[in-house]
Amino acid sequence: MTEAPTFAELTTMRVGGPAANLLTATDEQELIALAADAYASGEPVLLLGGGSNTVVNDDGFDGTVVRIVTRGVERVPGGSGPDAVRLRVQAGESWDGLVALAGRNRWAGIEALSGIPGSVGAAPVQNIGAYGQELSSVLVAVDFLDAATGDVRRMTASDLELGYRTSVLKRGLEGVVIAVELELTQRPEVGAALAEPIAYAQLANALAVEVGMQVSLGEIRRTVLSLRASKGMVLDPDDPDSVSAGSFFTNPIVSMHFARTLPSDAPRWPLAEEEPDLVARLDGSTAEESTAVGILADAAADRERRRTRSESAGVKLSAAWLIEHAGISRGFGLPGSRAAISNKHTLAITNRGGASALEVAQLASYVQSRVQSEFGVLLHPEPVLVGLEL
Ligand SMILES: Cc1cc2nc3c(=O)[nH]c(=O)nc-3n(C[C@H](O)[C@H](O)[C@H](O)COP(=O)(O)OP(=O)(O)OC[C@H]3O[C@@H](n4cnc5c(N)ncnc54)[C@H](O)[C@@H]3O)c2cc1C
Repeated sequence: MTEAPTFAELTTMRVGGPAANLLTATDEQELIALAADAYASGEPVLLLGGGSNTVVNDDGFDGTVVRIVTRGVERVPGGSGPDAVRLRVQAGESWDGLVALAGRNRWAGIEALSGIPGSVGAAPVQNIGAYGQELSSVLVAVDFLDAATGDVRRMTASDLELGYRTSVLKRGLEGVVIAVELELTQRPEVGAALAEPIAYAQLANALAVEVGMQVSLGEIRRTVLSLRASKGMVLDPDDPDSVSAGSFFTNPIVSMHFARTLPSDAPRWPLAEEEPDLVARLDGSTAEESTAVGILADAAADRERRRTRSESAGVKLSAAWLIEHAGISRGFGLPGSRAAISNKHTLAITNRGGASALEVAQLASYVQSRVQSEFGVLLHPEPVLVGLEL
């Protein structure tokens, strides 16, 4: 009898017990059939792509694990303009392979998402994002096998309620992303194939340009890959700091009021204000008819509306800053533990060799409690924890 594979072998964190009932789906029809049967059996089901955002406990998973390695990228009709490139991509395709393919074909829209490990099918689960781009800006829809009904239906990007590292799938809607439809932008055959405007200061700095400027797709990809490598954020067999699940915590979102209680040097990013509503004038007048006093009063009211909106939208904080300023430095580990904070980045928890899932969870809980007692902020884990609690 052969031994069951373990999650230590199936995930990038390299922890976790056996996947006793592991099924592998290699094409779309097989994936639909395997997953529908598994859900119909009533047993727990765990889907696995590249295992780069999953941390499973040391006892493994008591249910069916469906590993998705389906392949295929096809161009499909449709699109919002003459330069639109619509793609339907099978869930098991490599995300970074897709980004590389887009670069070779002069398709812009996902270049800053270079180097993110894992599969295309898992990308909508937490609306992957990095260096100023997010999947949500190019995602059109997914074909989704709903665990509750066993039917495959199309869910649009708005049905998925994508947010910062979240979606309805991450929040508990059970089922399988079978294929993903994206819309990229074709750059002309001649001249430089320009990337989307740079939206991230660190990336702009590394390229010695301003935020908002455009450079080639190739330059963005090379620069992002090198920035990521410097943080242990690309999978590299020669880099022990990449034995992780990427960032272990999301950047917390707090109220503006709470953010004011933090040290003034704590980085913070007010969340995007909504566009002001188009407010009909109650007196039926047009802007041109308004008196100067009326215009000033409107401007003041508008400022007040914006202030209230951004107060309620909240502020995103830097989890890495909070961790460092709670006294946890790079390389930190609990005594005797084989899990440690990355030597390159305080947001990543790494397996220094043979760590258990429990050791990873203990370190994560310790980080959480230090940040909470220092700043009153509860950090939330970014990876999907299976049978583990912090
Ligand atoms: C070094 C490193 C760097 C990273 N950097 C980033 C980053 O910059 N930005 C970012 O957003 N993430 C990052 N991540 C996290 C991770 O790569 C992404 O979340 C990725 O999308 C996970 O893909 P996966 O196939 O490995 O998912 P898995 O870990 O296999 O699965 C993740 C979750 O999705 C579910 N799932 C998987 N496939 C499907 C499917 N087809 N349908 C429905 N559910 C599914 C699983 O059940 C699980 O709940 C990083 C991870 C590592 C290790």
